[in-house]
Amino acid sequence: MITSAELINLVKSYDSNANTDMLRKAYMFAMEAHGAQKRASGSPYFYHPAEVARLLAELRMDVPTLVTGLLHDVLEDTNVTFEELEEIFGSEVAFLVDGITKLSSVNYTSSKAHQAENFRKFLLATSNDIRVLVVKLVDRLHNMRTINYIDSLEKRKKISLETLEIYAPLAERIGMNVIKDEIEDIAFYNLHPSEYSAISLRLEQIRSKDDNFVQNTVKELQRVLHDHGIDAMVSGREKKVYSIWKKMQKRNVSLEQINDIIAFRVIVKTVDQCYLSLGIIHTNFQIMPGRFKDYISIPKLNNYRSLHTTVMGPFKQGIEIQIRTEEMHRVADEGIAAHWSYKEGNVVTSDDDPKKYNWIKGLLAILQNSSTPEDIMNNSKLEMFDNEVFCFTPNGDLITLPRGATAIDFAYEIHTSIGNSCVGVRINGKMVPLKTTLKNGDQVDIITSTYQHPETSWERFVVTGKAKSCIRKFIKSQEKVEFMNLGLLLVKGIFSAADITFLEQSVDYKSFACDSIGKFYHNVGRGIIPLNSVRMAIQSDAPNKSKMEDAIYLMDFTPGIAVHFAECCHPILGDKIIGVLIPQKGIEVHLSNCDHLSYRKNAFVRIKWNKDDEIESPFIIRLRIVMLNRTESFSSITGIISSSGASMTNIKVDHRSIDFFDLLVDIKVNDAIHIGEVQAALRTCSYVRSVKRLT
Ligand code: MN
Repeated sequence: MITSAELINLVKSYDSNANTDMLRKAYMFAMEAHGAQKRASGSPYFYHPAEVARLLAELRMDVPTLVTGLLHDVLEDTNVTFEELEEIFGSEVAFLVDGITKLSSVNYTSSKAHQAENFRKFLLATSNDIRVLVVKLVDRLHNMRTINYIDSLEKRKKISLETLEIYAPLAERIGMNVIKDEIEDIAFYNLHPSEYSAISLRLEQIRSKDDNFVQNTVKELQRVLHDHGIDAMVSGREKKVYSIWKKMQKRNVSLEQINDIIAFRVIVKTVDQCYLSLGIIHTNFQIMPGRFKDYISIPKLNNYRSLHTTVMGPFKQGIEIQIRTEEMHRVADEGIAAHWSYKEGNVVTSDDDPKKYNWIKGLLAILQNSSTPEDIMNNSKLEMFDNEVFCFTPNGDLITLPRGATAIDFAYEIHTSIGNSCVGVRINGKMVPLKTTLKNGDQVDIITSTYQHPETSWERFVVTGKAKSCIRKFIKSQEKVEFMNLGLLLVKGIFSAADITFLEQSVDYKSFACDSIGKFYHNVGRGIIPLNSVRMAIQSDAPNKSKMEDAIYLMDFTPGIAVHFAECCHPILGDKIIGVLIPQKGIEVHLSNCDHLSYRKNAFVRIKWNKDDEIESPFIIRLRIVMLNRTESFSSITGIISSSGASMTNIKVDHRSIDFFDLLVDIKVNDAIHIGEVQAALRTCSYVRSVKRLT
């Protein structure tokens, strides 16, 4: 196992300014946290994170990434908390470790292989800092290297399948090809041991046939290039077992037909030299047609750049050659890690937005410039999942939703009936409001009730078309019922205020151009038939209004259908409120002292939150009245106030000019409707210029 001092030396070899205290601290901390825990191999658990840190250092990653490597399992496997990590190592490291922990908390089951692509997207999306992904892949690399210690064959196969379906393609996507190759081979070995050994054996045979083939070819290529003035590093690399197997599947060739197991690499100083070398190779050796690819002009999505060609080599055997610069070579091996890793003099500070980093810029530039149809497709895919959020059902099924989606969207996504009856939600085990926005990796458990139905306010909290249309549909079906119910209550209220016993038969709906009593109630509720004309029709039988009309209880209605809360004053439960019946809309609920109340008092409706509301007692309000400076002014407004049934408790001249008085008047009134009536009456006075309720 690497010691703390060895790790620090390794880091110092590429970053002389590294914060080694932090590394030392993390090393000790992780060692203590894992304590006596053991791995399947029987060695102390801490060997694993220490090894992960060493591998990260070999990739020349920055200190926070290395520290994350050391700590990557402490949140999941020990008692250490996020808060502790944040306090000791700062929020950058805490968030990186937390990100890795979240990735491991989701269980991929091989039985749902079709979810692999979604799952891969989920992992990419969750790793909003790519360093999370780098650590996760290195973690997987070490787990694969030690997989033989796991006794259970079933478990080894499961981990291997997960590696092949998820982690290897992910490594490829961000260009970490060396890791990809290695984990693929180990996984392949565990899943298909006989195929693996058959191919290995064949490789052995080819190798033993001509020991010096690789060496001689390398020498010959180097000589030809040197003769034309190019100093190149040439090497031959045997292909991996799994990639040979894939090639066999793809080209449908047998093991015996496999000959080109060596890929030769020509590494030069500049891009110009790449093309020069290509020309030299093509003029000295016979080209095999159809095998040339220029990934320098058009890099792969993961930033891979190289020239590929296949020629008839110096020993009359087809050889594959890859030509690239040193920089391209590093990217080809390490992908994003090569861009990320520490470069002297290019200090990365923790509060930088990761999106500002150059490697991301490079990646984005490639995305934008990608020109093959395949790239463009991948490109839009990448954009697509930027706008997606990946969540899980309690059973572990992956549900993909647009970003910004809430638990309500999730419920409708599962099934319309679940959406229509959801009453609550548990996200990651905690009860939260239904309108909670979902995050990647959330496990969402919807609670339903047969008595629940959609609320119109939900419309504001959903983003999916499905949820929106389901809620709309419900509202449409509910509208008729609610307006009819409201109309009935309003009509009953008018009867009781006029002190007439309510009898449905005595309602002359035909005189309101309605063909049924239901239609009549509906039109009253909707405000199509003005309340006042109903009042007049009923009170013509008994013109002395003896009581106040009954209040409508809001609890009987679904907000957003026949009852709407005014945008201007946003009443909340318990506020003193008043309703205004708006044609086609129903009741608009305002604060009783809302400045935007229109004083068409005929349209006022007494409303209360529920039946248990206290009986409203007289209360005092203050009005600011601006009136003309005339002798009669005072007597006329006091007259209006008292004839409105209110009484004045205080009056003060706030400001006086030659033309105007500015008065503050305190008035005792019965309720919100009464306030409206008094104000409306004052406005009819010719001396009054304005009346405003002060709060
Ligand atoms: Mn681990």
